Amino acid sequence: PVKTRLAPSPTGSLHVGTAHTALFNFLFARHFGGSFVIRVEDTDTERSKKEYEDNILEGLAWLGITSDERITRQSERAEYYETLLKKLLAEGSIFYCTHSAEELEAERQKLMGEGKSPHHKCDQRETGLDSGVLRIKNNTIEPIIFSDVVRGDISFDPVTFGDFVIAKNISAPLYNFAVAVDDHDMNITHVIRGEDHIANTPKQIMIQRLLGFTAPLYAHIPLLLGTDRSKLSKRHGATSVSEYRDQGYLSDALFNFLALLGWNPGTDQEIFSREGLIAEFSLDRVQKSGAIFDTTKLDWMNSEYIKKTSAHDLISYVLPFLESLEDTYGKKSDENYMASVIAIEQSRMKKLSDISDKIDYFFRTPTYDVALLTWKNQPPEETSRALEDARNLISSWDVTQMTKEDIERLLLEKARAYTDRGSFLWPLRVALSGKKNSPGPFEIIAVLGKENSLRHIDHALTGLKSL
Ligand code: GLU
Repeated sequence: PVKTRLAPSPTGSLHVGTAHTALFNFLFARHFGGSFVIRVEDTDTERSKKEYEDNILEGLAWLGITSDERITRQSERAEYYETLLKKLLAEGSIFYCTHSAEELEAERQKLMGEGKSPHHKCDQRETGLDSGVLRIKNNTIEPIIFSDVVRGDISFDPVTFGDFVIAKNISAPLYNFAVAVDDHDMNITHVIRGEDHIANTPKQIMIQRLLGFTAPLYAHIPLLLGTDRSKLSKRHGATSVSEYRDQGYLSDALFNFLALLGWNPGTDQEIFSREGLIAEFSLDRVQKSGAIFDTTKLDWMNSEYIKKTSAHDLISYVLPFLESLEDTYGKKSDENYMASVIAIEQSRMKKLSDISDKIDYFFRTPTYDVALLTWKNQPPEETSRALEDARNLISSWDVTQMTKEDIERLLLEKARAYTDRGSFLWPLRVALSGKKNSPGPFEIIAVLGKENSLRHIDHALTGLKSL
């Protein structure tokens, strides 16, 4: 049975690249009805932090990617690694290296000067010590070849690794050792990870051989690049999943977007449900070249997901973004009202956070520069007259019994009395919304209601007196 894993190091927030790797592992396992597990690689005790682990697991859970087994931490397995290291030491396949940092550096410089790749071939292989760095006794000369599921055969000359380090000391194994042991012990069948790990693979294979383990299959997937094709970094914008969540991207949208980075379904289809992705995903349509993380495309995809969201769900998604919005009208908890407000912006939203400063006037009297009420060179008295006109008309209505179309028809009829209908409609729209750009006055009145529409008009009329 297929079993994949994500092995994040808790040394930073959940990076979109890690989420991408997680997603490929998850989709692959689900596609084959196998399992997916999360293993926290916290062997780097100095850089690993609980808060990063929490951020990583929360971000994955938010994306809907959870472990099918209890989440393990490498720190829980310290004693076991030590047992294995002692066994290898007793067998003489690893040893303590007694060279000083200066000696190693001098050797490094010398090799680089000769145009060779720096590595250390040790002539002081001690096994009887009890402190110091542990290295693998590397006598392999045959190339280490593995067949990468994405890239085909990859070959390495093991001589270039020298007697590489596998533990800082007997109780502090390094990444390559712990990974080789864990992938075996957890029965991982496919290691799907970023291509930056290709060079680690032969070392992991060598360690597995020492321990008598068979290697899993490896699939190295493309790294995420910015639109300028350089490695995705802060320079290109947000890189952590929590930042995207906090900016108002939907989990389904980010999931769908990440799935299409470096993998293609073989058709033009871009919008996929989770089930659709699980059904379609395969490693043979994973590309070798880097995948461009294009936020314009993400915005488009997110807006498509927002359009598809039900009013009820969208309200709950949007509410956290409206926390600082002043709600003098006490409307935030009115589900019907919220649904109509959000419906106005739903088709225009790229992210949930877009909404907060677009809909403030549905919850309180707007504040704005009074001069904005002026249409072209209209004198203040004329602006006031237009607003008085609108006020009288609206006062005679029962807005609750009217549709947006009714309101539109009646206001346009009134606007005909003006040579330029903008001189009637512009001040009204600005009075209602306080904005240079907003939906039309008809739509606003239909949602805002009679009382608050009149309140906004009165507020504008008061303001105009100060001009
Ligand atoms: N802890 C490693 C990382 O975060 C895992 C690499 C692997 O999947 O083997 O890069």
